[in-house]
Amino acid sequence: MAERVNTARAPVEVPVQLFNTRTLKKEIFEPSEDGNARIYTCGPTVYAAAHIGNLRSNLFADLLVRTLLHRGYSVTHVINVTDVGHLTDDADAGEDKMERAAVETGRTAMEIAEQYTQLWLDDRERLGCRLPDVLCRATEHIPEQIALVERLVERGFTYQIPDGVYFDTTKFPGYADFARLDLAGQASGARIADVEGKRHAADFALWKFAEEGVQRQQEWGSPWGRGFPGWHVECSAMSIQYLGETFDLHTGGVDHIKVHHTNEIAQSECAYGMRPWVRFWLHNEFVNLAGEKMAKSEGNVAVLQDLVRQGYPALVYRYFFLQAHYRQQQSFTRDAMDAAKTGYDRLVRAAAEVRDAGGEVREDAIEPLRVRFAESLADDLNAPRAVAVAWEVARGSELLPAERWELLREFDQVLRLDLANATPAGEGAENDPRVEALVAEREEARRTRDFATADRIRDELAAEGIVVKDTPNGPRWSRT
Ligand SMILES: [Zn+2]
Repeated sequence: MAERVNTARAPVEVPVQLFNTRTLKKEIFEPSEDGNARIYTCGPTVYAAAHIGNLRSNLFADLLVRTLLHRGYSVTHVINVTDVGHLTDDADAGEDKMERAAVETGRTAMEIAEQYTQLWLDDRERLGCRLPDVLCRATEHIPEQIALVERLVERGFTYQIPDGVYFDTTKFPGYADFARLDLAGQASGARIADVEGKRHAADFALWKFAEEGVQRQQEWGSPWGRGFPGWHVECSAMSIQYLGETFDLHTGGVDHIKVHHTNEIAQSECAYGMRPWVRFWLHNEFVNLAGEKMAKSEGNVAVLQDLVRQGYPALVYRYFFLQAHYRQQQSFTRDAMDAAKTGYDRLVRAAAEVRDAGGEVREDAIEPLRVRFAESLADDLNAPRAVAVAWEVARGSELLPAERWELLREFDQVLRLDLANATPAGEGAENDPRVEALVAEREEARRTRDFATADRIRDELAAEGIVVKDTPNGPRWSRT
């Protein structure tokens, strides 16, 4: 093993700076209490598989969490699962995504929610995302959501119409500030007509009544009548429950700024009187698929499992993500994925060459690289620069093997590219399309919890002397 000349790590002086959507500035970040950063991330609506654009916000939040942990802070990270409501657009008209999926498939909303929550958790694991400290489901926090709406009703921020209880945005003077909204322009738009009795275009539902004569699968009693919570309410109620009435960081995709996060801020600040409710708001940009915004409603769906089937291990997508700054749009193309695959394979190969290398480690040789890596991330999570430092180390002819491994192992706590275990592509695997197809079929069976089929395929392969090993990068096989 590596000999450590000096185990004490020099502190990295440069502070962490993050671009805050609330102020439109890069600001120095420090946790507000005891070195513990409290972070809330808007999670998935679990009526279908998360597409790879949604997965970017998971990778982005993971990069943030791992960077703060690497800097020595502790983290309380909360992610929600929207398993009720969430209409087909951000406004208060349209169908309920969960109920519609239930009608279309003939299954219960809860079965659908459970299936896609599990699939999303599997995807996160394959992408190397750390488990959140709290994973909270909207349906398990209905009383907390009702309590939040009650606070708003008591304080006079709401009105009731046949559709439900609505938040009156004109009662919150700062409503337009966060997203720099043009409310006058919005008022002349058509949206206000979407819901009868709604007073202003920006007003939003806190509690929606179940339609007369329609039997919903998901509805609850409330002081105002049977129904279900408006989509935005869950994030305020659950983040406050687990992180307190104010906290440090809230993350999500840029598509959440104008409506969802603006409404979260309005209802939270009015219910609790704290301003700002959350100090730092961080938003990741979109992934573009062939120039189109990747949203399920536009019919462009690409899921992680498709990539794996096409021969791109999940961590290639993580490497792809790390190649752009989170505030840049990323174009998802086959060429870009091929380039990411080549780059990732080369990095894994370089790491494998020095993996567990013993010998001398000169602190003065590695310290400048360690500092540059930390500084790259401290500069608003500049992952492309951090990856470039990792490459410098991987190629670094002036560094001894043990020094290269020491740094790569440390950097991988943030990059999480599995450099300690990943097998370089082509190694151990032989080119045999028939075996590849069987291995892929077994993997699919495992993912759908069809263990009988998975075991049968494994036994058939074993009979041919083929061993399948499951790694975080997907299955690898070899002949014994
Ligand atoms: Zn949210």
